[in-house]
Amino acid sequence: MANLDWGNLGFKYRETNVVISSHYKDGEWSAPVASKDFDFHFSCFAGVFHYANSCFEGLKAFRGVDGKVRIFRPDENARRLQSSGHHLGMAYPSEQMFIDMCVMCVKENIDFLPPYGYGASMYLRPVLIGMNPQLGIASSKEVIFCVMCSPVGTYSGAASLSTGTAAISRDYDRAAPNGTGKFKLAANYAISLYPYNMAHEQGYRELLFLDPATKTRIDEFGSSNFLAIKGNTYVTPLSDSVLPSITNKSLQAVAADLGMTVEKRVVPVEELAEFEEVNACGTAVVITPIRSIDDKPALAGSEVTRTYTYGEKVGKTSEKLYNMIRGIQDGREQDIHGWNLILD
Ligand SMILES: *Cc1c(COP(=O)(O)O)cnc(C)c1O
Repeated sequence: MANLDWGNLGFKYRETNVVISSHYKDGEWSAPVASKDFDFHFSCFAGVFHYANSCFEGLKAFRGVDGKVRIFRPDENARRLQSSGHHLGMAYPSEQMFIDMCVMCVKENIDFLPPYGYGASMYLRPVLIGMNPQLGIASSKEVIFCVMCSPVGTYSGAASLSTGTAAISRDYDRAAPNGTGKFKLAANYAISLYPYNMAHEQGYRELLFLDPATKTRIDEFGSSNFLAIKGNTYVTPLSDSVLPSITNKSLQAVAADLGMTVEKRVVPVEELAEFEEVNACGTAVVITPIRSIDDKPALAGSEVTRTYTYGEKVGKTSEKLYNMIRGIQDGREQDIHGWNLILD
């Protein structure tokens, strides 16, 4: 077992034992190999460097209360990577190959899987990138698929859920209408770096992006979906430019299990005034409760025209949903949907 301060991992990169990779060339994937060398060697003309021929995933493995190792919904991540790879016109791994390589990554790096009881987990990062040398703009013919990992805690290191603030991004979009918002592409992140740097400088944790076509509806935060609670109803935006979050999908199922109404529909910006609890959700932390959202016509250099406020602490319903997901991941709650892949 690696000698790490499991209670204070934060969310950052740490080197582990190995990275797992497979190479696609001439219509075939090579057998996955585990390598201690984390430095890839390939052409400076590779598509990934110039045209962002790259997509990725994020999922987690947990050491349960019963000592068993669980990977949360890897089949969902496999299918999402396939849709991203397909959109980039690149070869992509089969669902089984994706899952096998994730399992291999966990097993080969098992020393870095945090023990139960620290709220920590092993974050898996599969990436699919185009590597053949090219000058013309084209989908990559030669591809590398690799799965690496890093042990992670919560963003804040705190045991309870810490709240964050957000600003509505009115003058920057993360996705284009009919663009790539619903795929997990590296390019989408490049687009949001500039406004995020600005937001962070102003002390905001998150940016809330609107639908890029009309700027009247809520889409999602930069790297997490939007979910709100209104009475006994779970509300999350229906939009073509939102990334289909697996955490959101799981939370919706749990909410329905608990007897809540789940509404996936258009959410006008003004409805922010009617919500009791608002959260960002994604694999990294499951949910980040949002305590306030500022509306600014321009991110830099304009006044806040309106502030929507929610609780200083996580809302009761959000906390219940969070605990259920974390319980399923840790083996404390019954996995009635069969979401966990339990390793032997
Ligand atoms: C990855 C991602 C999410 C969260 O998806 P999960 O499957 O829940 O981790 C949400 N929004 C964007 C833009 C993302 O890239």
